[in-house]
Amino acid sequence: MKKFSYFAPTTVEEAIKVLAGADKDTQIIAGGTDFIVQINHKMISPEKVVDIKKIKELKYVKEENGFIKIGAATNFSELDCSEILLKKAKVLATACGEVGSTQIRNLGTIGGNIANASAAGDSISALMALDASVVLKSEKEERVMRLEEFYQGPGNCQLRKDELLTEIFFQTPNENTATSFKKLGKRKALAIVVISAGALIEKDDNNKCTKAQISLGAISRYPVRVREAEELLIGKELNEQNIEICLEKIAEITNASVANSPFKHLALYKGSAMKGIAREMFANILADLK
Ligand SMILES: Cc1cc2nc3c(=O)[nH]c(=O)nc-3n(C[C@H](O)[C@H](O)[C@H](O)COP(=O)(O)OP(=O)(O)OC[C@H]3O[C@@H](n4cnc5c(N)ncnc54)[C@H](O)[C@@H]3O)c2cc1C
Repeated sequence: MKKFSYFAPTTVEEAIKVLAGADKDTQIIAGGTDFIVQINHKMISPEKVVDIKKIKELKYVKEENGFIKIGAATNFSELDCSEILLKKAKVLATACGEVGSTQIRNLGTIGGNIANASAAGDSISALMALDASVVLKSEKEERVMRLEEFYQGPGNCQLRKDELLTEIFFQTPNENTATSFKKLGKRKALAIVVISAGALIEKDDNNKCTKAQISLGAISRYPVRVREAEELLIGKELNEQNIEICLEKIAEITNASVANSPFKHLALYKGSAMKGIAREMFANILADLK
């Protein structure tokens, strides 16, 4: 392995100073679960490594002014058992609880999952359903971007090499809302073989759907919102028939998207599998909305 310079800042301010002027040879490491695999497979060969594990101010889950805010270096185990998430954004707690193994969940962070930008990133799928945003800090500026925007444009994602992802936030779902996450398959190291679905559904007192945010993972380059399926539910009664129509659309979108993606060979399997896990996801949501 090539030798590299190692920095271990203890504050965000120190970290962004070290990152100023960083280029492709600079790499941030948080939990290291993707980083170590990438080094071992010679996918990266950094000259400068900035370890953010000691930055305590990046580890939190809090509710503030109608928003739930999460520090980027919070690990999956902490998120999986967060009282705030379990009560108000179960989709994210469940997704974090289903990442890899206990060891991976104890090390892997939500910021690392987002920055690694995998099609099968479990927290990404859940955060898309929550319509989350990210905060990116550099010495020059602070940028706030919706997650959907973060995964658009050229390159892997919109994160610059001189930037530190510091926070993820989303509006606290209201009391007439339920969320759920479902995943199929196991992911081993770099083999992406999983599909996932996350949703946030809000209803009014007449059991009419007032908000639907549905995201699907591992059907294209990044987890995506499926607005055509969402629109079929909004304004409709939340009953079996309307959910079935929405599920049909989810399968149709999955098939069309997979046919143009790196998962082409799984096209036949993915549409019906997605429909199956989305059906379970809706069953959880309806049970919670009662
Ligand atoms: C055996 C195994 C099983 C896995 N199973 C799953 C799974 O089921 N689901 C899933 O979603 N993932 C899975 N993963 C992938 C991995 O655990 C996650 O992507 C994890 O969230 C990465 O977080 P980390 O802190 O370890 O990131 P690191 O490996 O430290 O970093 C990953 C990338 O993010 C960058 N980065 C990290 N933090 C920041 C930050 N704050 N600001 C800017 N850039 C940053 C790094 O520079 C690097 O490019 C698995 C990995 C392994 C090895």
